[in-house]
Amino acid sequence: AKMTKEGVLKAIKDNNVKFIRLWFTDILGFLKSFAVTPGEIELALSEGMGFDGSSIQGFARIDESDMVAMPDPETFAILPWRSKEDGAVARMFTDVLNPDLTPYVGDPRYILKRQLKRAADMGLTMNVGPELEFFYFKDSNGTEVLDRGGYFDLTPLDVASDLRRDTILSLEKLGITVEYSHHEVAPSQHEIDLRYTDALTMADNAMTYRLTVKEIAMKHGVYATFMPKPIFGENGSGMHVHQSLFKGKKNLFFDKKDEFGLSPEGKSYIAGLLKHAPEFCSIIAQWVNSYKRLVPGYEAPVYVAWARRNRSALVRVPMYKPGKEAATRCELRCPDPSCNPYLAFAVMLAAGLKGIEEKYELAAPVEEDIFEMTPKELKKHKINSLPGTLGDAIQLTAKSQLVKETLGDHMFGKFIENKTAEWDAFRTHVTDFELNRYLSIL
Ligand code: GLN
Ligand code: MG
Ligand code: MG
Ligand code: MG
Repeated sequence: AKMTKEGVLKAIKDNNVKFIRLWFTDILGFLKSFAVTPGEIELALSEGMGFDGSSIQGFARIDESDMVAMPDPETFAILPWRSKEDGAVARMFTDVLNPDLTPYVGDPRYILKRQLKRAADMGLTMNVGPELEFFYFKDSNGTEVLDRGGYFDLTPLDVASDLRRDTILSLEKLGITVEYSHHEVAPSQHEIDLRYTDALTMADNAMTYRLTVKEIAMKHGVYATFMPKPIFGENGSGMHVHQSLFKGKKNLFFDKKDEFGLSPEGKSYIAGLLKHAPEFCSIIAQWVNSYKRLVPGYEAPVYVAWARRNRSALVRVPMYKPGKEAATRCELRCPDPSCNPYLAFAVMLAAGLKGIEEKYELAAPVEEDIFEMTPKELKKHKINSLPGTLGDAIQLTAKSQLVKETLGDHMFGKFIENKTAEWDAFRTHVTDFELNRYLSIL
């Protein structure tokens, strides 16, 4: 059962909670938090807590820096890595509001809610199941791995079994259901998959997941990172996002009679993801390093195509299992786990809904290995590619009406500005690669 205001107040008393952290997310997906004491929380729940948002990335201009954080009681949970003896610590996600209590247009949670409202007006809810991958390293100064394990390896190679176990138990205590976990392909790379929920809950859960993985790693004296491609020559870390739309209890994507098990709406949704992926790529792969992952040969997508089995495709539709209506979904494979999940889910939904509204046609699936195709074959199949760098991605986003409408003018402007600066910082940097390659020959 979801928590009410009264439930929160009682839980604070019953569990000896000393601090309640109020959480929100900045434009780049960094978790922000400030703590209030139990004495303040009753008022905070009814009127919100004021704070100065002027230094938060993507937030207000100097002259309108007063913000209000309104706690969402449904998201109350006790942080399991704090011992109860010294006084427990709890958290609630908040909605960021203007001083007049209207939604703040720079709050990513609001951007997602607004898109979900659009779906709700069509009678639809969005379900999301992400697969976040990450690496454990000895510390954050380098990429010294903890193990040399590979896909699905188990101890003694996989010394991180205990870390994963501790993390999963913590997630479950936070009310987040884990479906399964395993060692990933690269050394010291892992994956913990969450059971699908509605998109807003899952965006909150993804934020909590990243913190939990990092907290538990720290407790064990190691470092966990969601950096998309930390090691050259190894797989990077992705965040595949399984998604579907429901109309009440009915899966809108499902059609028993179709050869793929997909309804016309399901097909148009996928066509929407494919058509708009290049222009929303900067949102779901937002760092310079994200584009080091999206290269051929490492199970990450590069080309815009869909398939049922093919793991080089951008969108995969897991094989339809007879009688499994609820499981019919598509999997978008380009996002990485260092994105802002609120904005990521919002642009995916916007692209899919646009596909449905405008009845986009879905091209035939491509089951051949696309990485093996020659440029001529790619052209014959009309296969487009994702942008190759953050710079290219930003240029496509800057021209995107879809992303602009989804983020809104304020957020869109801030995002383009921030990412352009990020790209310029990289573009003008002289790298080791250049010195090693050119200095002695030029
Ligand atoms: N690590 C791969 C990626 O970058 C995915 C590997 C997998 O889960 N099959 O997306
Ligand atoms: Mg997986
Ligand atoms: Mg995986
Ligand atoms: Mg997957």
